[in-house]
Parts: sequence; structure tokens; C-alpha cells
Amino acid sequence: MSLIEIKDFIEKHDNIAVIGHVNPDGDCIGSCLGLWYLLKSLGKNAAVCIKTDDVPHHLRFIWNPLAEAQEGQVFDAYISVDCATLDRLCCLNDVFAKSEHTACIDHHRTNSGFATVNAVIPTAPAAGEIIYSLAADVFGIKPTGELADAIYTAIVSDTGGFKYSSTTSYTMRVGADLLDAGVNGTAIFKNLFDTYTKKQIDIVGDITSTLTTYFDGKVASITVTDELLESKGMRFDEIDFITNLPRSIEGVEVGVYFKKKSDEIRVSLRSGESVDVSLIAAHFGGGGHARAAGITFKCGLEEAKKLILDKLAEVL
Ligand code: AMP
Ligand code: MN
Ligand code: MN
Repeated sequence: MSLIEIKDFIEKHDNIAVIGHVNPDGDCIGSCLGLWYLLKSLGKNAAVCIKTDDVPHHLRFIWNPLAEAQEGQVFDAYISVDCATLDRLCCLNDVFAKSEHTACIDHHRTNSGFATVNAVIPTAPAAGEIIYSLAADVFGIKPTGELADAIYTAIVSDTGGFKYSSTTSYTMRVGADLLDAGVNGTAIFKNLFDTYTKKQIDIVGDITSTLTTYFDGKVASITVTDELLESKGMRFDEIDFITNLPRSIEGVEVGVYFKKKSDEIRVSLRSGESVDVSLIAAHFGGGGHARAAGITFKCGLEEAKKLILDKLAEVL
């Protein structure tokens, strides 16, 4: 299905909930917020179902608390953004599953299209790029101001600053358009990639002390537990910047980040050029993209490590 159908969907409804995924990242926050600004400019009642408290520290600069859905707010339609599966929606999962008025805007190849109207575009490096096309090309509204800032933040987040292989010449053109519209790219880059608290720098040593390599250095992993974070008074989202570190080691094909959060293990997989980690994630019920994917295990840390390493041994 196409973005024209998303336009029809939006035009048919007046009270629209925009829903992101659990553990929202920069693409999720920027795209949800961007869609909210677009819906407001179209005269819709809309809200983003992401709690201000759940917005990661490094994304607070872009977040608008006025977008947050109110307790008990009534909606007649639901749009999920940047979310690959129903069970990864950050809220309203049951309502979404039952409603016939649902749409999905996403770029995960593993997304099977769980809404009534689906715009899943795997060639887009970020959901933010799809929000840009929806605004500029489908509604004829050239993003400016806060809408442009939100979309730029989304795209820069998921492309690592226009650097991942998912970046296309169209992505760069969208970026250029947004700069022409007045976006302060330097400030957004500084907020996303160049601003750390002293605590964030201090914890890097603890995390790199867990660095382990496997298979002749083709795989590297780091491990972070909630006990470590609690001892430092920190949240997992404060160390998101560490996720790509194992992959950046010379010779590493797959970087793995194991997070032990109470009774579950979250695994982030990052690959270089040779391995499609979305297939590994899908094998374990997770999902994502060829170069960045994730899985949630309901088992112990050592068991999750064994499952992942055994699977990697097969594909390497
Ligand atoms: P992360 O490692 O959490 O940054 O996720 C990398 C990519 O994989 C993101 O695009 C996520 O949306 C996606 N992803 C992570 N975990 C899952 C999961 N359990 N199911 C589906 N997609 C996931
Ligand atoms: Mn995301
Ligand atoms: Mn994304």
C-alpha cells in the first residue's frame, strides 16, 4: 500500500493517536513528533502516545511535552510509526489490535503489515524520511520549523548522520531541503552525537571491560547489566551511544550488545557488510534491518549468549 492511502486514512479521521515503539530512539521520537506536527497543521486532534518520562535524555532537546497523550484521551484512529510488530508498540497494543481504524508507517523489512493500512518502505533509511515524503510529496506541505527539525533528527539518528549504507542520494536531498528550510543541522548533530554527561564518559570503562571477541575477532560483544547501571544511578537509554562500539573494531563483522534488564535480555546486533543480522534476529522472534537488528530473550544472560553465538557460528 502507498502513502496516498495513508493520506486518505488521515483525511477520514479527526482524533488520531500516533504510537511509537518501546525504548523509543531518535527516529521513533522524531518521526512521531513530525507526524504530530503534520496532523496539527492539517487541523486534526492528535497526540503522541510516548510518555515524556520515557524520552531518552539525549532526545529531550527535540521532544515537545504538548504532544504527549493525556490519560483517558479518546481516539478514533491509530497510526504506528517506526514499529516492526504489534507487540513492540509502546502502548495501546490491545486497542490497536482490535480497532479497524489503524495505519502503520514503517521502514523495517521484517514488518508484515499489522495495521489496516500499511506503508512499509524498507528502502527508507528512517521512518523520518517517509514522514518527509508524506508531508512534502503527498500533502504538498514543505516541512519548516519544528516539523523540519523533528524529521531531520529522525533521519540523522537512524542513518548515523547520513553515514550508514542505507543512506541514499534521496536521503541527502531531503536533508538538503530541510537545511534550506532553516534546520540548524550543526546543533542537532551536536545534541545527538557530541554531548555527554561526565557519568556517561565514566561508565565507558566499565562497559569496555566486558568486551570479548570470538571467531578470530569476527564477532565482538559488550554486556551491560541493570546492576551496573543502578550502581551508577543511570538508565539504559543513557548508554545507547555505546551500541555501535563493538562493530567499530577493525576486523569485526558483527557487534553484539547484551543488556540484562531484570528478567529479560535485550540483544542489539550491528553488522558490517557481510552478515544480514535481521535474519538472525527474525530467527529468534526479533527484527530490524540488515545492518541493525534486535531481539528480546526471556531467559538468563548466559543462555542468551550461547544462543546468539551458536547462531553466529553457523552464518560466519
Ligand atoms: P536496537 O538494537 O534496539 O537499536 O534495534 C535495532 C533495530 O532493530 C531497530 O530498528 C529496532 O526497531 C529493531 N528491533 C530491535 N528489537 C526488535 C525486536 N524485538 N523485534 C523487532 N524489531 C526489533
Ligand atoms: Mn526505531
Ligand atoms: Mn527507524
